[in-house]
Amino acid sequence: MALIFEDNIQMVDLQTQYRRLKQEIDDAIQEVLAGAQFINGPQVKAFASHLAHYLDIPHVIPCANGTDALQIALMSLGLQQGEEVIVPAFNYVAAAETVAMLGLIPVLVDVNACTFTMDVTKIEQGISRHTKAIIPVHLFGLTCDMAPVMRIAEKYNLYVIEDNAQSIGASYTYASGRTKKAGTIGHIGTTSFFPSKPLACYGDGGAMMTADDNLAKRLQMIANHGQEKKYRHKLIGCNSRLDTLQAAILNVKLNYLSEFNRRRMQAAERYNEAFGQLPYIVTPCKPAYTSHIYHQYTIQVKNGKRNALQAWLKERKVPSMIYYPASLDKQDAFRVYARKAGSLEVAHQLTQTALSLPVHTELRACEQDYIIEQVIEFFRQNER
Ligand SMILES: *Cc1c(COP(=O)(O)O)cnc(C)c1O
Repeated sequence: MALIFEDNIQMVDLQTQYRRLKQEIDDAIQEVLAGAQFINGPQVKAFASHLAHYLDIPHVIPCANGTDALQIALMSLGLQQGEEVIVPAFNYVAAAETVAMLGLIPVLVDVNACTFTMDVTKIEQGISRHTKAIIPVHLFGLTCDMAPVMRIAEKYNLYVIEDNAQSIGASYTYASGRTKKAGTIGHIGTTSFFPSKPLACYGDGGAMMTADDNLAKRLQMIANHGQEKKYRHKLIGCNSRLDTLQAAILNVKLNYLSEFNRRRMQAAERYNEAFGQLPYIVTPCKPAYTSHIYHQYTIQVKNGKRNALQAWLKERKVPSMIYYPASLDKQDAFRVYARKAGSLEVAHQLTQTALSLPVHTELRACEQDYIIEQVIEFFRQNER
């Protein structure tokens, strides 16, 4: 099929999305420029309470980015050098990185082959008398299975920090049927507003969320140089702020988060239908305990031809990404700092099979048809 698009297909199309929201966003930016309170302007507080309301949690503390959010969350727990924090082995680097940077030891736990998130049946293998916290990461748009995580945390008296950079707006359903938004279940949730994330600004941004008044106070202080009042430093902190401009943009975009998530869900459903019968593709799974907002649409290519498929798609102007090409135990930076809990074989396997296809709020049906056709044609020509 020789389809010519005006613009190339993109993994994430921020330009078209901006054009759609231009008036509202431009107005919000103009308002900040006119008010000139570029740091801690009223829009920052307004956005924090807007997000707290959306997530149904008492405290949202904005900060400079999602990695800072993890770092500040860890700092707030008062952990000692050499204590251990459990993180998934198949993940973006931020959680393990902030753990190691604070002199703590990341303990890498394998992930579930179906959901890509931490395998809750393997967490206990990673627990030692030094373990203090677990960081479940809600990867690609769904949630980790939080009820078992919280049960284990309670049993061993551990903190839980949910890294929710990729699944904001997704919700977790307990066996009782009660639901909670991702990021509001553990002691602290963290998120990122990096431009490609589900809730995104036009630069860097992040936030922490908690229902615990005491933790909220510590998080707030640490993000602001550990200040209790101006020039009174109670804790060692850092300087991590969400710009007023970014908060104003987020305040607009938060109104569209449910719509954005719904658009990606619809695109994912079309992919699922098209690929469901292909023998070499495992489509993303969605267990009953979670919704899936498809931050990524990630398939597993089972015939050993993941890289060949990616090259084939690239030739046909279809972008795709490998999240993630190496598990953390195979990264040079972590060989000395991390401890492995078990063999991590699923994480290793996913680095060879996972491929993320374009899924974004502006993906057009004709573009998606073209992508689907190219994928199907690849497998037709590579039967075995
Ligand atoms: C993007 C991301 C982060 C880091 O966010 P930044 O804002 O880029 O610092 C952390 N964890 C996960 C899972 C992410 O996807």
